[in-house]
Amino acid sequence: MTDIIRLSSYYVPTLKEDPADAEIASHRLLIRAGMIRKTASGVYTFLPLGKKVLAKIEHIVRQEMDAIGALEISMPALQPAELWHESGRWEVYGPELMRLTDRHERPFCLGPTHEELITALIRNELRSYKELPLSLYQIQTKYRDEVRPRFGLLRGREFIMKDAYSFHASQASLQKTYDEMSGAYGRICDRLGLEWRAVEADSGQIGGKTSCEFMALAQAGEAELVYCTCGYAANTEAGEGKAKAGAYEEAQGLEKLATPGIHTIAALAEFLGIPESSTVKAMAAKGSDSVVTVFFLPGDHELNELKAARLVPGFTLLSDADMEALGLPKGSIGPVGLPQGVRVVADACLQDVGHWVVGANEEGHHFVGARPGTDFTVDLWADLITVKPKDSCLKCGGELEGARGIEVSQVFQLGEKYSRAMGASFSAEDGTDQPFIMGCYGLGVTRSMAAIVEQYHDEKGILWPMTVAPAQVCVIPLETGDDLVQPTAEKLAHELVEIGLEVAIDDRDERAGVKFNDADLIGWPLQVIVGKRGLADSKVEVKLRHTGAKKEVSLDAVAEMLRFIKRGMKGAKPSYEGFFG
Ligand code: ATP
Ligand code: MG
Repeated sequence: MTDIIRLSSYYVPTLKEDPADAEIASHRLLIRAGMIRKTASGVYTFLPLGKKVLAKIEHIVRQEMDAIGALEISMPALQPAELWHESGRWEVYGPELMRLTDRHERPFCLGPTHEELITALIRNELRSYKELPLSLYQIQTKYRDEVRPRFGLLRGREFIMKDAYSFHASQASLQKTYDEMSGAYGRICDRLGLEWRAVEADSGQIGGKTSCEFMALAQAGEAELVYCTCGYAANTEAGEGKAKAGAYEEAQGLEKLATPGIHTIAALAEFLGIPESSTVKAMAAKGSDSVVTVFFLPGDHELNELKAARLVPGFTLLSDADMEALGLPKGSIGPVGLPQGVRVVADACLQDVGHWVVGANEEGHHFVGARPGTDFTVDLWADLITVKPKDSCLKCGGELEGARGIEVSQVFQLGEKYSRAMGASFSAEDGTDQPFIMGCYGLGVTRSMAAIVEQYHDEKGILWPMTVAPAQVCVIPLETGDDLVQPTAEKLAHELVEIGLEVAIDDRDERAGVKFNDADLIGWPLQVIVGKRGLADSKVEVKLRHTGAKKEVSLDAVAEMLRFIKRGMKGAKPSYEGFFG
């Protein structure tokens, strides 16, 4: 019994028209190719071919997880609120958490992630360092009430994630598993055919270089990345770089200029005829201790609020009313003559700038030539900016380049965050009670499917990599009623199954044009076209979807040719180069 996909009796509702709400290729094409259907905003149904692709991605993920010794489990999506109260995340998670109550009015949520659940499990099960390390994973549906569900499978409210969690007795053991997981994630990206980069990611309050994201490069990606020829790569949320801040050459010393009506960096730069990078921007904020901090950064850069929050716990930007109450003139704030008790924190790159063009703390006035150390004091020099392309690499001094990416997965060293909060401990070798050291590793399965299509499509449809295609080859008989064409196609299909290919046959009673369009839309990597005319010479046509190349091949050489292609497959794109000598 072979499982050939027979399109005559299969459910592949392809569409000619683009769905109105689909902004990006993967969303558009997965719907048009009859792989997915929208059920509600950010909620999708997988139709038979889509489900096949999903299963293949999951299979690759499972193989790579199993290969590094992670064990598969399955946790419930429905999670009791108590656990989230224990970790403190019931409040912190906010409206993204899908909350519900049962008939007894007990609160639950639909899991957006499973740190709470697994920590609660382990604290009752593992007792001794002898049972560590342990890595568990699951492939499961997650729920997040995203503010902006969009882009089809890229940002859903219900989606499939592979999430893994590891438990350790030491940091060294965590590091080892973290490295193995990173290796597995790289191999998964490769096997999915993705062009990807591992980038330094923000690791939240924990700090340090303890998190890495795997990005599929794509214009449709929501993440901005910087990278350097030296190998440095980072999400701009987390990355570091040195801005090229310019000095104001004409300045002699502290000089106040009337700048009537000028409240923005753009207007100031234009007024003075200098680039925005030669101005200094001020951002006023306060922390949970109510102390006011003014952050100064090069005018062409944005304050990275994650970095600011690490320096000022409880960071919030001052409102207009706050600023007015403090006598800080919005749009003209500067470091000279700030009210008592206001802290000055400046981006490290401004250390090289002797004369700042900056607000004068007086409505409609700016200084050119305000000198740090002479005219004002900086309390702290720090890395404050959101890095951007053309900044200098801190590792090698080279110029950073920019790209956009889709975050397909992330590895993260959690440390003792959850084990401490939830009282999960084991008895260590020296007999003391220690909290587990943990890692977590998430990979978006449905998001990966969309990322693949973002990288593999053209105007006609999808170009599935061989590794995840719903089937690798589609045999297309052109005249299904013909008593030579149809049986020949059937025989060929079975022959191809014999050599280990996954095979579909378009045995529908449809015009050739319809079949060709659908085949290109669905994106079978290999097509074998069987027609009356060719068969007169015992020939069929083999088409490679990725390149569009077509070749007439004699009937008895087809299987051999496809076997050759299959054997030679290294990357995602099939080729028959070399077959004809
Ligand atoms: P993002 O910043 O894109 O919202 P995240 O950092 O919240 O992602 P994680 O909590 O690390 O994501 O989840 C692990 C993986 O799950 C992500 O790398 C991504 O592949 C996937 N994922 C997260 N949110 C979604 C979503 N709304 N739709 C589809 N996949 C998602
Ligand atoms: Mg998110």
